[in-house]
Amino acid sequence: MSSEENRGGKADVAAAEPPLPFYRPAIGEDEIRAVSETLRSGWLTMGPKTREFEAEFARFVGARHAVAVSSATAGLHLGLDALGIGPGDEVLVPDITFTSTAATVVHRGARPIGVDVESDTLNMNPSDAARKMSPRTRLVVPVHFAGHPCPMDEIERLASRHSIPIMEDAAHALPAAFRGRRIGTIGKLTVFSFYATKNLTTGEGGMVTTDEDDLAAKIRSRRLHGMNHDAWRRYTSEGSWRYDVSYPGYKYNMTDPEAAMGLVQLRRLPDLQKRRLALVEHYRRLLAETEEIELPAERADVEHAWHLFVVRVRSEKAAVGRDQVVRLLGEAGIGTSVHFIPLHEHSYYRDVLGWRAEDFPNSTAAFPRMLSLPLYPAMTGADVDRVARALQRALRGKTGA
Ligand SMILES: *Cc1c(COP(=O)(O)O)cnc(C)c1O
Repeated sequence: MSSEENRGGKADVAAAEPPLPFYRPAIGEDEIRAVSETLRSGWLTMGPKTREFEAEFARFVGARHAVAVSSATAGLHLGLDALGIGPGDEVLVPDITFTSTAATVVHRGARPIGVDVESDTLNMNPSDAARKMSPRTRLVVPVHFAGHPCPMDEIERLASRHSIPIMEDAAHALPAAFRGRRIGTIGKLTVFSFYATKNLTTGEGGMVTTDEDDLAAKIRSRRLHGMNHDAWRRYTSEGSWRYDVSYPGYKYNMTDPEAAMGLVQLRRLPDLQKRRLALVEHYRRLLAETEEIELPAERADVEHAWHLFVVRVRSEKAAVGRDQVVRLLGEAGIGTSVHFIPLHEHSYYRDVLGWRAEDFPNSTAAFPRMLSLPLYPAMTGADVDRVARALQRALRGKTGA
């Protein structure tokens, strides 16, 4: 690399180094083969592969049931529906999350109530959640931001004090654990995402886990129009044409080609996670002395899924602000992102629901500093070196690698 850098000016360096995207999926020949085999089998929609994926996923996280769905957004919507959340109800969600955590509450005719985050982990702040409880609060939806588990003991104490359930948005938290308990086994419901950028991907997809038979049965039926259990078997020799619709359900099922890909990804997950962890340690070593940024928090009692590596720019120490750092890294060919624009910054939550920055002091302070660096198993150690070097230059207001 250095011989290429020495060849000439800036333009040559940029030409010599291909862009490093913010994300590149870890799809290999095994996934391609599994999807091809499924296509040849003739099962294009939900069928035996989905069942197999559900069984292996349930075993992996240690939950009694796993129900495969078309996305985490669909899973959250189904979870709210199965829990009977509706008009007049309030649901606590963190201010720093993706819109679907809160939008699905609106889809049910209920009201999402924004909760501020903790200043270190950027997870839902239990004391602010306690403050935002009302007689109408029916559910709390913590989000394990970046893959760092929320303080589930405190959230459980709060929920049980108010006799309300917990549904976890675990879109970032596969695999993760809080004090030895696996994410997917703690709340009444847990929702995972297999979106293209997530730690395990099926392109689009999700999974809902629960230990409760009745909730699992409801979600299983309602993801496929509210038809009675196993309705998809009507296309097999053991099935018949007759089915019953007992509820106006949704079209939120997974498909077998997706599940086939998911099965391969699930078997690879321990190795993929090992790689993520090695990259995180490498970032930490390289950036430990970079005082213009704050590295991501990691508490002692968690197993972190490391979906994202979110640093914070200390604008009082850096020569430039976060937005400028994003631009300078872009000029150096390095893709970055910001997770997430707090919900209160979006016009819907601000103008329609009336969320105010002053109600979220921690997320308001964190947002202008937050920066997600590339982190995915396909990255090499040299990629991490390059990002760290370019970041250090960018923080001093300079471009290049
Ligand atoms: C990705 C994501 C979702 C939505 O997942 P989909 O599978 O794309 O619907 C929900 N919540 C969080 C925190 C996410 O990051």
